[in-house]
Amino acid sequence: MQETQERIFHEVNRRRTRCMVAGAVMILSLLVLVTLSEADLSDSALTWLVLGADIALMAVAGYYHWRTWRCPSCEAGLGRDWSPQYCQHCGTRLRP
Ligand SMILES: [Zn+2]
Repeated sequence: MQETQERIFHEVNRRRTRCMVAGAVMILSLLVLVTLSEADLSDSALTWLVLGADIALMAVAGYYHWRTWRCPSCEAGLGRDWSPQYCQHCGTRLRP
């Protein structure tokens, strides 16, 4: 029981770290998007390539975050709380 609880705490921390990285990627992608929107958007293929890649990267990071930030026990989404004490769906304790 104790080992299982420790494993869940460890897994929640691991998932939180990965979600923070995904969030940082999304913020950086948004900054690139804002920078591009203020730049001279000529019809250069490179500009549109960067824009498309940036939007795709943002979508992938958002999807990754959505898929990762879940309860290790029941895999239900954990919502917007970055440090929940318990899973709202199954009641599993998520942090010491
Ligand atoms: Zn749960």
